[in-house]
Amino acid sequence: LKRYGADKWGQGFLAVNGEGCLTFKAPALPELDLQRVAMVLRERGVHSPFVLRFPGMIVAAMERLHRAFELAAEENEYQGEHMGMYPLKVNQRRSVVETVVAARERCAYGLEAGSKPELLLAMAQPVSKAPLICNGYKDREFIRLAFHAAELGHEVILVLESMREVQRYLDIYAQGEWKATPFLGMRAKLYSRGSGRWQSSGGERSKFGLTTNEMLEVVRRLEGADALDRLSLLHFHIGSQITQIKRIKVAVREGIRLWCSLRARCGGLRYIDLGGGIGIDYDGSRTSYPSSANYSLEEYASQVVFEIGQVVRELELPAPTIVTESGRVLVAQHAVTVADLREVQGALLPVPEASPAEDRLITSLRECLEYINVKNIEEYFHDAVDYRDEALQLFSRGYLSLEDRASAEGLFQRIRMRCAKLIRQMRHKPEEILDYLDRAQVKYLANFSIFQSLPDTWSIDQVFPAAPLSGHGSAPAYNAEIVDITCDSDGCVRTFAHPDDNLKSLPLHAPPARNDEPYFLGFFMTGAYQDSLANAHNLFGRCHEVIVRGPEEDGVILGAQSIEFERGLWFEVKTGYSVQDMLEEMDYDVDSITQMIRDRHLGVDTTLGQPWAMGVLQEYPYLTRT
Ligand code: PLP
Repeated sequence: LKRYGADKWGQGFLAVNGEGCLTFKAPALPELDLQRVAMVLRERGVHSPFVLRFPGMIVAAMERLHRAFELAAEENEYQGEHMGMYPLKVNQRRSVVETVVAARERCAYGLEAGSKPELLLAMAQPVSKAPLICNGYKDREFIRLAFHAAELGHEVILVLESMREVQRYLDIYAQGEWKATPFLGMRAKLYSRGSGRWQSSGGERSKFGLTTNEMLEVVRRLEGADALDRLSLLHFHIGSQITQIKRIKVAVREGIRLWCSLRARCGGLRYIDLGGGIGIDYDGSRTSYPSSANYSLEEYASQVVFEIGQVVRELELPAPTIVTESGRVLVAQHAVTVADLREVQGALLPVPEASPAEDRLITSLRECLEYINVKNIEEYFHDAVDYRDEALQLFSRGYLSLEDRASAEGLFQRIRMRCAKLIRQMRHKPEEILDYLDRAQVKYLANFSIFQSLPDTWSIDQVFPAAPLSGHGSAPAYNAEIVDITCDSDGCVRTFAHPDDNLKSLPLHAPPARNDEPYFLGFFMTGAYQDSLANAHNLFGRCHEVIVRGPEEDGVILGAQSIEFERGLWFEVKTGYSVQDMLEEMDYDVDSITQMIRDRHLGVDTTLGQPWAMGVLQEYPYLTRT
């Protein structure tokens, strides 16, 4: 596990078994050999790439967060409660939402909706004791829908993000025909900012929220409309994946002072909503790096409760219910994306034998390789770069043979590998060479699309921890970066989470010699945002979904196939998008495409005839309706 840093980021759920395969331990399920899971699925026709989902991980995270607040309340003698909201935008998949909904009564979770479709989804769920919070831009239709949700019995809280939303709300409120009406919240624009990639979500220049003057104006308008009792919540959100606990403390201090000042005027104010943002330690470093967080969930709860408790005690106000909208921390760990590794580009090839006819540059490169050592590494490395560059220039001008060019490339590749070995023995490692070695030369092709399965890797350089599902008992052959099958050079994973000096490549084994022995790579913690942000670049569509279910569990997905596994476990499998689905998504009529291909074949060579054309199409079953 150490080789991939999984002893840190995979703490508690990943292990390696006697066969050198990764095992996954989800709550309420036995430990599962992931390689075996992938092989059984393959035997049953479910080929990688696919997303494995473990719903129990979501429930465990919900309980852990809630428990952390309960403990913090006990320790700080805090009188208020904690309520968690699940923000639907983090992952709207049915299997995820239904898991949250089924578990929420046990630990007081509500739903947070940021758009009309999300609100419809939330209002169709059973009424819960936790509120249904609506964030985001709200037009008249959205607000009316929220009134209908309130009539269905939900405790709806519409969080006002702008002055225009107050007026829209009051207009609808004044129509007076409602059996129940939503409560209101205000999103405050804090001066405090988060840390990490989303820090611009907070601070005075943030896109969302009301200034202090605007909040006072909202209070005046609600008073004027005799609706001040509707105001029940103060919200702020300083960004997703907040990397430093210090920033959270500062924001909470500012937020609770605002809450207390408003509470003096609005007796109905009872919730303080901290938004989302609890960070996930994707790279296992427990630092304030963008893909990590320097605090635990327990520390988060303890600091928040302490800060809020201190101020309300000082001002002798009732303790508010603390609402969290953290979503990433609830669902990130439940999903593993599995792709099979296919082939290596840039692997070591044999170098032509030395010959009297070869260019002197090639001979010099051979000498570099023979004599480079710890003492002369910098000088010899520089020489090798010069010889290699000169050889390539000579080739371009027509003065070097193709064989010599091949020798220059091959010898340089070996010098590079030798440097990698030597540098491990050195205490003071030369920066320049380290930097060069960091750039992995070997590329491993994985059968998936990064744009579809790990969109945050492409868009914001997010690290998702990765490790092969097998081969943990043997030494890897390469340090490689991962390239996907899209025809885009951005389709590449270049940053990994493992403890070696070299984070820019992943230690991997040689590709399988046979097709029936696939080498699978798992990307972990892909459960938050990746499904909703996935895009269809190159028309690679949604992958197969595999939900791992216990013997007593029911499935939730319409049209899913069930595959029995072992020990009573079963897989609920939803087939991914086909070539046909993707073409139809782009407005094509697949029937007329296949018709056209058939007609064209017949037209091109009439001697081949209709049976031949049908035979060609049958090779591609996804092009025919059956
Ligand atoms: N609440 C609001 C208002 C948000 O904008 C977000 C996401 O940025 C969240 C909650 C969820 O944040 P996270 O998933 O980082 O916890």
